[in-house]
Amino acid sequence: MINHIQINENILQYIRNTSLRESHTLKKLRYLTNKLPERNMQIFPEQAQFISLLIKLMKAKMALEIGVFTGYSSICIAKSLPENGKLIACDNNIKWTDIAKKFWKIEKINHKISLHINDALLTLKKLLLHKKEYFDFIFIDADKENYINYYEYSLKLLKAGGLILFDNTLWSGKVTVSQNIKYNADTKIINDLNNFLLSDNRVEISLLPFADGITLALKK
Ligand code: SAH
Ligand code: CA
Repeated sequence: MINHIQINENILQYIRNTSLRESHTLKKLRYLTNKLPERNMQIFPEQAQFISLLIKLMKAKMALEIGVFTGYSSICIAKSLPENGKLIACDNNIKWTDIAKKFWKIEKINHKISLHINDALLTLKKLLLHKKEYFDFIFIDADKENYINYYEYSLKLLKAGGLILFDNTLWSGKVTVSQNIKYNADTKIINDLNNFLLSDNRVEISLLPFADGITLALKK
């Protein structure tokens, strides 16, 4: 069997050395977030750079992010939108989004971002009242237990031809290990989502073995 390349520490370093263009501000944010106990929740810098490229490639104007944390991905998304573009950002933890807000200011993108502090499902329900088929791009990266709910709402909020990007769809590889100690509730949720997406004809999909696994779902 021919395998994909295994990304070890050396290769990851090589990828970063030869392709990562991280701004001074983003680097600062990464180092600062690294001091928090929840640091593992931050997306990878090369992954964020890929998201920026995708947004530019599809010329997205309206974006939605579910799961802001300290703001790394939101900065990459908002900076890639045109001047009249908008990112609606959802989170329920102001301790983290206060950090994000500080960095949005430094990056001079706060005018492009509207932050909704609430349970994300409630925010999505409200958005659906006025913003049906409104978004070009949606990044799902909050609590895993609601991923399938976020997905269903996102499909309604997304224009045809719009893109949903799910983070963590390989869940550190645990999705492949069934019935052992590592196979907890979140693992099952991600696994169920992946299987659900496989047979969901409303979207075209691609699961990329990149970072912690990302799934692209393009609305037909
Ligand atoms: N995209 C971020 C990482 C997100 S981490 C980055 O680039 O760094 C997941 C985030 O989801 C956390 O900030 C957490 O507060 C938020 N979250 C978890 N459950 C939530 C819920 N029910 N509603 C809104 N936000 C939630
Ligand atoms: Ca994540």
